[in-house]
Amino acid sequence: MIICLSSLKGGSGKTTLAVHLAHAISLSKKKVILIDADPQGSSQGWAASREDKPPFPVIGMARNTLHRDLPELLENYDHCVIDTPPRVSALARTAILAADLVLIPVQPSSYDIWAASETVKLIEEAQGFKPEIIAAFVINRKITNTAISREVSEALSDYEFPLLKTTIGQRVIFSESSAGYSVMELAPGKVASTEIKQLSQEVIKMMG
Ligand code: ADP
Ligand code: MG
Repeated sequence: MIICLSSLKGGSGKTTLAVHLAHAISLSKKKVILIDADPQGSSQGWAASREDKPPFPVIGMARNTLHRDLPELLENYDHCVIDTPPRVSALARTAILAADLVLIPVQPSSYDIWAASETVKLIEEAQGFKPEIIAAFVINRKITNTAISREVSEALSDYEFPLLKTTIGQRVIFSESSAGYSVMELAPGKVASTEIKQLSQEVIKMMG
């Protein structure tokens, strides 16, 4: 299964969730590869920051033919996660076209809600070529008991795509994870780690 993290909004959590989904899947004894399709190379930077070998391969592939090239490359893997750039571009399109599931991270902010419609448009265009692509929103950086956190769920219900049950909270440990280690490594058993495991379970279940 190929899961693509996609959002035209920079800073929404594509890289953070890509790295963590890949790690959570690898912890469930599945072979997973992370494809960094963002020319900025943040996922690659994450892997390179580590002292040790990353727990799954991270490959930079910012090329416009991903949807054609990936199937052959993925023969030896159970799952693939793709991190993407935050711009309407051939790269954003090829990554969506390559995917079985597109996850759209949305922060509880009006800016993110407005930007969601552009991302949805891009995915719907791709579904014109490949109708079997599934897409879903996931709330990232949720702050409990705020009005905007409730409003974001409501605003997203206007779209055809479902909102995942799992939400990822605003947690300092996620910022710390950008130095090359996942929250499962930095704080095993803590809430952040549980949320990520739940996310990966929900995603895998969705794909049957
Ligand atoms: P994108 O790849 O969409 O541009 P990132 O994953 O790089 O977004 O996230 C942007 C910034 O927000 C990073 O500094 C990251 O550490 C931080 N961040 C992302 N998700 C969370 C979270 N749930 N809690 C706290 N910080 C977060
Ligand atoms: Mg990124």
